[in-house]
Order: sequence, then C-alpha cells, then structure tokens
Amino acid sequence: MGAAGVMAGARTPRPVAPPMAMLAELTHRCPLQCVYCSNPVQLVARSAELDTRAWARIFRQAARLGVLQLHLSGGEPLLRRDLAELVRVASEEGLYTNLITSGVGLSQRRVGELKDAGLGAVQLSFQAADPSLAREIAGGEFWEEKVAAATLVREAGLPLSLNVVLHRHNLGQVRELMEMADALGAERLELANTQFYGWALANRAFLMPDRATLERAEREVDAFRARGSSLEILWVIPDYHEGRPKPCMGGWGRLQLTVAPDGRALPCPVAYVLPGLDPPLATEATLDWIWYDSPAFQRFRGFDWMQEPCRSCARRFEDFGGCRCQAFLLTGDPEATDPACAFSPHHERVVAATSPHRGLDAASPRPSPASSPRPAKPLYRTYP
Ligand code: SF4
Repeated sequence: MGAAGVMAGARTPRPVAPPMAMLAELTHRCPLQCVYCSNPVQLVARSAELDTRAWARIFRQAARLGVLQLHLSGGEPLLRRDLAELVRVASEEGLYTNLITSGVGLSQRRVGELKDAGLGAVQLSFQAADPSLAREIAGGEFWEEKVAAATLVREAGLPLSLNVVLHRHNLGQVRELMEMADALGAERLELANTQFYGWALANRAFLMPDRATLERAEREVDAFRARGSSLEILWVIPDYHEGRPKPCMGGWGRLQLTVAPDGRALPCPVAYVLPGLDPPLATEATLDWIWYDSPAFQRFRGFDWMQEPCRSCARRFEDFGGCRCQAFLLTGDPEATDPACAFSPHHERVVAATSPHRGLDAASPRPSPASSPRPAKPLYRTYP
C-alpha cells in the first residue's frame, strides 16, 4: 500500500493494544563520543533531521494513537534549538515528556524554558563515578557540566534519574555510582549493563566485563537496596553472561515505538539493522497505520514466526525469543533464537565473546581504558 492509501485507509480490527511509549531520537549529533553508544555506526546527518513541524505532527499523531510517555533522546537532544517548542507541543497533547540527555548544554535558562514548556522529567547520563574515567569514556571534559546539570534539574523541581552504562572499566565503581546518584538527589538510577549494538558491538572486546566483577557489582546493588535508601535502582541484565535473553522491548511492536532523526519508524531503536525490514517513514504514513498495519511492525509480532527451540519453549511468553537485532547480528538470521539464550544452537558465540576476560578475580587489577586496545569512537564532532 502506498503512502496516500495509508493516509486514507479504512480501519482494520485491532488485536494489538496501542503503544504506551514513543522514543523520539531528535538528532544523532552529540558532543560526547562514548565508546558504548548504541546509535548506528552510520549516523543520520543534520541535513536529514526532521524539522519542528514534522516532529510536532508526529507527536500529535502519537497522542491520538494512545501513547502516554514521550522520551526525547538522541544523540544529544539539547542540540536541537527547538527542543522547548517540541516539549510544549507534546505537553499540550497530553504526553508525559522525559528528556534523555548528557546534560551538556543544559543552562539555567534552558531548564526554565523546558519546565515552562511542560517537561515532565530528566534522565541524565554519567559515564563513571570520577572525572578521570568519565573523561576517558566520554572523550572529553564534561564532568563539571553534568554535575551542574543535575543540580539545575533538582533546583527546578523536576524528577531526576541517572543512567550509567556499565562495562569492564566502570563496573568496579557501582557502589560509588549509587552513592553519587543519592548525593545528587536522583530518584532513580539505571545501571545498564552494555547492550552490544552499534558502536558497543564494534567495541565489544574493549567493553566486555568478566563474570567475577559482574557478580561483585550485583552484590553491591543488593547491599545498597538492603540499606532502605529511597533511591530506586534498576539493574539491566548483562545478557551475554546470564544464559537467558532479555525480553527485548517487551515484545516486538507491543509496548513502544521509536522514530529516528530522519523519520524512520522502528519497533526498536536498533531495528534498522534487520534486512528487508523497510521501516516506514512517519512523515509519509500515519503512526496509526505504522503501528497497526505496517509490515515492519507486524514482522515479529506474536509467536508464529518463531523457530525451534523458541517455538515450543514455555519461556517464549516472557522473553519473546529475545532480541531480533541481536539474533541477526550474531547469526545472520533475524528469526533465530537470540544467542544470549543457553538453549540457542549459537550460544557458544556469546560465551566465546565473554571468555577473553574470564579468570579476572578480586585480586586482578581493574582494567583501564589506557591499558586496553583502543576502541573505535563515534565521530559526532565531525558532523555538521
Ligand atoms: Fe526464550 Fe527461545 Fe530461549 Fe526459550 S528457547 S528461553 S523462548 S529465547
């Protein structure tokens, strides 16, 4: 069906619930160069980014579709000069907005503008618990600005959550990270073990933690939770080490959708890697058609597409066979069982990727970025 037919198309029966959340990747541009970035290795150029009117139209459609939460992300969304305008449109449509940011470029004036526009909450990224390691991971001096951004958010009365991507260079700092988040007044801390897509997959050997350090970090999290702190800790599982896959996106086309900086609508932020997916453009088709009827969003809905062992496995209702993008990236088959699963015939590929660092124990020196092979870095700074 062409785009014109899509716009005027008759409604079909709806066995699928509307999405709860939408991730709007406003830009891929970013002042940081984090080596674990899950953005595509082929970044969308500034010249291809949607303009204010196009995003506003998408946000209105999202609200009509039933979306409740709008996550404004990037790259660095603060690089969009129209950010407050976009927040205002979304708020007027009744969407709860959450800004996902590095904090770089967040002045008192901008916080005020965003709050006045109706911004609901801020999620701030940190790379480490100390400025030195943070500098090495992010590729520059951003520490002071991030700490200042946390203060500005709290002073503005906005809910603050922190996000830290964990890997072998900062996993040993989990206790300090939790204490830092508490001291900065965060309500929530997301400790997100690296998911290996995009730049993170390119830098997998540099980032891969060892099991002993992971287990120590988990014990630290349990001990911190047992202290009864009001800080909510979310621990995103390191699926390479768990023998079980993550229930990616809570199921394909089931809870949320992503719109990339150029308007491609995707069931998950990484799904552009899947061959033949042909993501629909939110500038050409309605979000309603995209969500309910587009082939891209139907492709892995439900369970009929599954191969064995998923097809007859009781856990398929909980994990949906794992991540389609990871299955494709590691096996070449997007319908394969996610190799993170111990039942996958390709599970040894994941085990092999974790093995270079097996054997490190408490007595081993913590590996440092300086002593590791140099990683590839996203070259956002060269972007116009
Ligand atoms: Fe999940 Fe498939 Fe593994 Fe079963 S075989 S646990 S459904 S990924």
